[in-house]
Amino acid sequence: ETAGTDSKTLRVKLVLLGDSGVGKSCIVLRFVRGQFDPTSKVTVGASFLSQTLALQDSRTIKFEIWDTAGQERYAALAPLYYRGAAVAVVVYDITCLDSFHKAQYWVKELQKHGSPDIVIALVGNKADLHENRSVSTQDAVEYAEKNGMFFIEASAKTADNINQLFEEIAKRLPQKLP
Ligand code: GDP
Ligand code: MG
Repeated sequence: ETAGTDSKTLRVKLVLLGDSGVGKSCIVLRFVRGQFDPTSKVTVGASFLSQTLALQDSRTIKFEIWDTAGQERYAALAPLYYRGAAVAVVVYDITCLDSFHKAQYWVKELQKHGSPDIVIALVGNKADLHENRSVSTQDAVEYAEKNGMFFIEASAKTADNINQLFEEIAKRLPQKLP
């Protein structure tokens, strides 16, 4: 058995959506490379990374992660970006109420135009900045429950809940994907 090519490896397209600056690229870098670079510039050019995750039921998930190159500013381009995605990770910054409202816009967009079986995860990032919080955990929990989404607060900076985020997503994936 060769890792990554056996029949139990599920390839999964995962896109990140959310306002510019909420930490989407940092979440990806934390998950894939275990790093956080506070000096990193805004992503320029399309970015594509993959990371495999072994599940306890012996399945392996290969996340093919699409990180935006600032397309979040161009709503019209978004459908091209999330087409065929099995997973959408919608990110906001817990210190920025506007970014929470923008996250809700993306969720509606995905509900209308995303794949019917898409797994949506809502992430309140920058949980390390809780002293400057402007979005209550309770509001986000209620919103996520109403919309049948998985929700977690996390920090790409401290790594808090980043692996858990992807593990919970993997658990929610259907056994078979197109
Ligand atoms: P993107 O535009 O959504 O991809 O956001 P980036 O990943 O480029 O991050 C935007 C800024 O937020 C950068 O200055 C990061 O260093 C910072 N940042 C990202 N994640 C966190 C976090 O969890 N905590 C803190 N304190 N800062 C973060
Ligand atoms: Mg980015």
